[in-house]
Parts: sequence; structure tokens; C-alpha cells
Amino acid sequence: MSVNSKWYFGQFGGRFVPETLYFPLEELEQVYFKFYKTKKFLSELNYYYTTYVGRPTPLYYAKNLSEYCGFKIYLKREDLCHTGAHKINNTIGQALLAKIIGKKRVIAETGAGQHGVATATVCALFNLRCVVYMGEEDVHRQQINVYRMKLLGAEVVPVKTGSKTLKDAINECLRDWVTNVKNTFYIIGSVVGPHPYPLIVRNFQSIIGWETKRQILKLEKRLPDYLVSCVGGGSNAIGLFHPFFNEKNVKMIGVEAAGKGLNTNLHSATLHKGKIGILHGMKTFVLVDKDGQVQPTYSISAGLDYPAVGPEHSFYKSISRAEYVSASDDTALLGFEILSKLEGILPALEPAHAIGYVVKNKKRFHKNNIVVICLSGRGDKDIDIVRRHL
Ligand SMILES: *Cc1c(COP(=O)(O)O)cnc(C)c1O
Repeated sequence: MSVNSKWYFGQFGGRFVPETLYFPLEELEQVYFKFYKTKKFLSELNYYYTTYVGRPTPLYYAKNLSEYCGFKIYLKREDLCHTGAHKINNTIGQALLAKIIGKKRVIAETGAGQHGVATATVCALFNLRCVVYMGEEDVHRQQINVYRMKLLGAEVVPVKTGSKTLKDAINECLRDWVTNVKNTFYIIGSVVGPHPYPLIVRNFQSIIGWETKRQILKLEKRLPDYLVSCVGGGSNAIGLFHPFFNEKNVKMIGVEAAGKGLNTNLHSATLHKGKIGILHGMKTFVLVDKDGQVQPTYSISAGLDYPAVGPEHSFYKSISRAEYVSASDDTALLGFEILSKLEGILPALEPAHAIGYVVKNKKRFHKNNIVVICLSGRGDKDIDIVRRHL
């Protein structure tokens, strides 16, 4: 395999896939680079962002939470996007690429169902056939989202291999793609997988950071001191961070799920406990056991429950551009309760990790600090889980 530096973030990323997938990945890369900066593509993307997704999303000054913590906190309101989370920023973009390439069948993987719903949504919009792979465990745990996808016209295929969760659904997608490469487009849900996916998904999600930059400059006449996001695969985080990469005074904090604690096996803190390895076509940090087998992961929020992480985060960690911390289930529940009670906003349990981290560690921030937290999704989907725990 030739090592192509364009495929990497530092030493992370790459394209570790079977021969058969070289052609469609190459095709995707070429089409993407040919179109993504053209007026036509950008105006179409922007049309759907504004009229369908509801962009720009507000940058909301959380006054009550700020007073409670003792410094200024702004929330980037991705929870107000159509379908309730940031995922649609990416699925719209990739579906437009599928249309350009002329592929009529779309496949996607999903864990909790959020990416599956966002993909089924854009497939309905653009009249594409949609097949969503979902671990059998997750099909049982997330019945409402399964039904939602079916209402949107998608076929949901339960995956019975391995741990019957997200990582197995991704493997199944890659297998389907190898078989049906001619007519099928794979819409990946986060900044993961073989090149060019981590780059393409990051660029689509960067709308979060570009808007934030413009909005905070207007509101505060300066850039924030901190950006804070939860990290599952890492797409909402890198979407917020990337446009600030060269702003050396803006610090970045990525919050992983510590589940029941980092000294148990029940967590998904890949950048804390992982080793450099290869999974799903990319070189990155991966959670493995003593024998090098991919470790089952756990988090109260299904969206953070992934045994690897986007290669660009591994890169940010390796050059210390971002700091990666973790927050437990209990910290996330604390974040959920506090935001609900103080601001009247029910956050998804994923960004509740970021909120909980900031609240619990408020002493590390200074009273003059401006902190932007990415509120990646709304909490309606998690109400049953929260009810069982609080
Ligand atoms: C899927 C999801 C996440 C985790 O995915 P990233 O790629 O890490 O952003 C976070 N928040 C919400 C609301 C999600 O649906």
C-alpha cells in the first residue's frame, strides 16, 4: 500500500481498505475536490442549510448558567437543526455528492439511530433508496428511531455479528459497499473511516465553527478563550474546532465519555485509554483489550459509544492543539439537569457531557473567560434513559 501524505493528519488517517474500495474512494475524492468550492455546489448546500436545516443556528448567551459558573458561557445551538442534531449538516452534503456521482442507493450505519434518521431524511428529500445497518442490540434499544427511519422510507437491517452494535454495523456497511459499489454511495456519520471521509465530514461540519466565529466576533468583539465539545467519533467537535485551528489563543477541550469510570472497562474514552491501531479503514487511537481485540465500549449516551475516534483528533492530541478530558455518566446527568433547570433546554446526553464537565470543573476557568460549548443535539430522545437514572 502506498503511503500518500494527503491522506493523513500527521501520522493518523489513511486508507486501509480492500482493493475493491479504492475506486469508489478515489471517485469520491475527485468529485469532492472538483465541486466543493464551486458556486453551484456551495449555493445548493447553502440553500438546504438555510431553508431545510434552519441555519445559521443561534449562538446563545446562557446567562443563568454563566452566573452559576462565574464566567461567560455561550451555547452553539445545533440542537435546533432539523432532526435535532448536527448530523444533518453532513448527511445533506454527502447526499448532494451522491447525486452528482449519480448513485441512487445509499447505505449508512447507525448506533443510536441519530445518523440513520438524518440519512433517511435526506434520502427522502432527494429521492434516494436508503438502507441503514444497525446492530441488533441497538435495534432493540432504539425502537422509536427504527420506526422513524421506516416512516421516512428507509430499510433497516439488523446486524447480528460481533457485539451487535455500532462497530459491527460499520463493518457490515463496508461489506455491502464492496459488493454493491457500482450503484451505492456510503454516507458515513462522523469524521471516521478511510480517506477522504474524515476530511469531507469535517468540512461539512465546519459550518458550526465558521458561524460561531462570525457570531462571537459580532457579540463580544473578540474570539472565545475556550471551545468545548463532546467527542464520540468527533464530528461536532472538529466542526467547531477546525476554523479556530490557527487561532493560537483559543483553547479547545474535547470531552470523551468516561461511563462508569476510566478504571473500569465501562467507558468510551478512546483518546485516554486507546492505543494507536487500525479500525474501519483508518489509523487512529482504538480501544483494545490485552490481546489487541477491539474492546466493547459503554456510555450512557449511545452517540459517544464508539471504540475509535476520528484521526484528526488523534492528530490534535499528538501536537497538543486540543486537550482531551472525560466526563462520567453521572457528570453527564448533572449537565443534563443543570441545563434543563437553569436555561429551559433539555440537552442530548452527548453534549450533556461537555456541559457537565464545564460545571464540575468551573474552577479551572477565569471570571473573564468566554467559553463556547457545542450543544450538538436536543434531549427528547434521551428522556427515558434520564428518567431511569435520576
Ligand atoms: C452522534 C452524536 C454525537 C457524537 O458524534 P460526533 O461525531 O462525535 O459529533 C454527539 N452529539 C449528538 C447529539 C449526536 O447525535
